[in-house]
Amino acid sequence: MATERIQQAVNALKTTRVRMTPQRHAILEYLFESMSHPTADEIYKALEGKFPNMSVATVYNNLRVFKDVGIVKELTYGDSSSRFDCVTTEHYHVICEECEKIVDFHYPGLDEVETLAEHVTGFQIESHRMEIYGTCDECLEKKKH
Ligand SMILES: [Zn+2]
Ligand SMILES: [Zn+2]
Repeated sequence: MATERIQQAVNALKTTRVRMTPQRHAILEYLFESMSHPTADEIYKALEGKFPNMSVATVYNNLRVFKDVGIVKELTYGDSSSRFDCVTTEHYHVICEECEKIVDFHYPGLDEVETLAEHVTGFQIESHRMEIYGTCDECLEKKKH
């Protein structure tokens, strides 16, 4: 499953003539295999052993390239650094308030909210974002002990 999606991402990059480098490939692999909405820093830490010459800036630049091609979505949460999501189809996020883990939650898009917001405010609505907060199963388990 991950391999297939990595291949699709590689193909998408090819059509835009973005050169595939071992680093780029490793970042893609990490994104699709971890499915964890990592920050650039987390990816850097996971891969620095393999690529000692790579910097956080390199990781960040690569993520920007992926974003431009439409392979990843950037999620910003206030002041903390951006997280990157390799699932670009519509979905919502459930966020653990203890460890900040983000889990995908598939639920039909709340299009009515956008329609109603348009009616009520007169805005031309482009998108919406909904986040659900709680405590993840792992953190709940830790609390018990
Ligand atoms: Zn947690
Ligand atoms: Zn997601």
